[in-house]
Amino acid sequence: MSMSKVQLKNAMERYFGFHEFRPGQEAIVDAILAKKDVFAVMPTGGGKSLCYQLPACVLDGTCMVISPLIALMKDQVDAAVENGIRAAFINSTQSERERAAVQAKLVNRELDLLYVSPERFAQEQFKASLQHYPFTFVAIDEAHCICEWGHDFRPDYLNLSEIVKLLPNIPVAAFTATATDAIQQDIIKRIGLRNPFLHRGSFNRKNLFYEVIDKVDDNEQILEHIKRFPDESGVVYRTTRAAVEETASFLCVNGIKALPYHAGLDDRVREQNQDAFSKDQVNVIVATIAFGMGIDKSNVRFVIHGDLPKTMENYYQESGRAGRDGEAAKCILLYSRGDIPKMTYFIDKIESDVVKRQAYRSLDKMAAYASVQSCRRKAILAHFGEALPEENCGSCDVCLSDREVVDITRDAQIILSAIARSGERFGMVHVVDIVTGADTKQIRAQGHEKLKTYGAGNNKSKKEWYDIVDALKMKGIVRQTEGQYPVLILTDDAKEVLFKGKKVTVVKRSVIQPQRVAASQQELYDTALFERLRSVRRAIATDANVPPFVIFADSTLHDMARKFPQNHTQLLGITGVGSVKLERYGDRFIDVIVTYVQEFPDSVERFKGITRPVSVKKPKSAGVSPTVLETFMFIQDGLSINEIAERRALASSTITEHIVTLIQQDKIDSIDPFVEKSKYERIGKLFTNLETSALKPLVEATSGEVSYDEARLVRAWISKKQSLA
Ligand code: ADP
Ligand code: ZN
Repeated sequence: MSMSKVQLKNAMERYFGFHEFRPGQEAIVDAILAKKDVFAVMPTGGGKSLCYQLPACVLDGTCMVISPLIALMKDQVDAAVENGIRAAFINSTQSERERAAVQAKLVNRELDLLYVSPERFAQEQFKASLQHYPFTFVAIDEAHCICEWGHDFRPDYLNLSEIVKLLPNIPVAAFTATATDAIQQDIIKRIGLRNPFLHRGSFNRKNLFYEVIDKVDDNEQILEHIKRFPDESGVVYRTTRAAVEETASFLCVNGIKALPYHAGLDDRVREQNQDAFSKDQVNVIVATIAFGMGIDKSNVRFVIHGDLPKTMENYYQESGRAGRDGEAAKCILLYSRGDIPKMTYFIDKIESDVVKRQAYRSLDKMAAYASVQSCRRKAILAHFGEALPEENCGSCDVCLSDREVVDITRDAQIILSAIARSGERFGMVHVVDIVTGADTKQIRAQGHEKLKTYGAGNNKSKKEWYDIVDALKMKGIVRQTEGQYPVLILTDDAKEVLFKGKKVTVVKRSVIQPQRVAASQQELYDTALFERLRSVRRAIATDANVPPFVIFADSTLHDMARKFPQNHTQLLGITGVGSVKLERYGDRFIDVIVTYVQEFPDSVERFKGITRPVSVKKPKSAGVSPTVLETFMFIQDGLSINEIAERRALASSTITEHIVTLIQQDKIDSIDPFVEKSKYERIGKLFTNLETSALKPLVEATSGEVSYDEARLVRAWISKKQSLA
């Protein structure tokens, strides 16, 4: 059977109410329809389920979906059934009779989707009957659970290596949101995928706003942020059970509907709490990382980390539970340096040296994310080997604040000299104690109050000094040793700063501009109407005993509250409204909208022409963009283009572009550091002789002796000079 593009799109509209594929979806669906194995890495919220549900709808037969969490299966099946898809599950929660009923449907070809738990798949009886079932392909969800050293390993998943042996003639499609390359290779090998079609989606979650906040008073700060999301759902992560309990009750006392979730709770209680959260009966769940994969809830509007996560990978996965519906959501990390000793204490107990070192390295990266003042999104993406093309991500605390380059050479000298004079034998806390002139036992025991730099920096707070040390670490001017008691030592660069007066600069940011955050997070829909639609949704969901997001996603209600559909045709134009849902619930929503429009006729006009922001708007940066500023900082430090490119892991042509921008903004005093004098003159003459400002003829005229980058720089320099003259 072949399926035309039009037929496929029609099916997508009918069952899901989607009008366009998301990136990657169409190619994956095509591959499955062409009977190819698939391995797809898509970030959370990327739309993995459509990739197997759509082919399941259009193919004659059943798709077997292996899914790790029994608790989730019911929601997944409910959601599919709501879309008019014939779906069921087989797992250990069912009675023998219920299972037999599902099997009968399966044999009678009355199922599009069958969800199976890995433990059920492993049973001999099930495996023996596989041949008799009309399976057309197998989809494996959360495929990384097969990886023994991954963070979600499930022994049951190892059985899945039998699939290709037991069902050799049908394709297998594996899906995961876990990003590392090693895990990907391991999954493909273990499942035994046969030359699979590979898809690796971008890990950039454009709808998420990232922010790091200095942790001063955890519970108060968490409360303060939750209050900014009245009536919305969110997750607060804490590292210990005690902290979970404490924060949850603190929030409750302060009027927030919150419940705890951690491994120490009774299974039943834990399930109830998760269910209440899923069904919007409470707004906030406070959890340890035990609360994870079970979260299919799409309308999580914020994820707050009260403590530093162990690794960037963890942070990405946990914060990624926000905004699966693609609507704006916030990821906030509360960070205090005080979290680190608590974590190293545990790392130090790890037996294996290799694992221990790895844990330290991961922690170091995580801490750098939290303390360094550069784009959070870039840092996250860089961790997964992905570069962000835009200069300003437009949706993190750093990119939305004003910044300036500050000379910290003197402060650097003070701290470096304290490190040198105390013999490079002490950690950051002690070194900062020296420069701030603290009176501690350790200081007296070491006689450090007699050092020349003792108290030389008492004009600044300890926090400010810690930040300076962090900056020096990042710039490779000081190095911190590994282990539980790391000490600061000087690098060759430090000697240049101390003895040769080499300049040190950092980018400092001021407070975030609130109006920019507002612009980037602007909800472009009628909030009053949204409230009404949401309460209809809640009522329907309660009657059906399913989570509200199964009825309609937040994004669908937002779209309604922007376009005010008042009849069936208009309602079908809303993303997420397919024909089954239209028939079932359409009129109830239309009633609410018609009434609302009668009450507030002006509101329709207000939202005319407004579409959902596909990516957040870039703020009009006041001056130079952050990445250009960073380059500027390195230029001031005297680095060459190649050195900057290497330090920043960017192409030298990118750095050249930055310099061109800086030239245009009149921030560069001389072209000499970038282009040799003789070349400069040669290029200048050529531009005149060739009577063109195009680069190609010029580079060709020199037979490649002049590079494009050099020509570009000279062109910018000359035209700036001319414009000033
Ligand atoms: P994942 O499993 O990758 O985290 P889901 O399959 O749960 O993601 O999809 C995330 C959200 O995106 C869901 O609300 C889903 O309805 C929506 N979605 C998926 N594909 C599309 C699409 N093509 N157009 C609009 N919304 C989509
Ligand atoms: Zn950013």
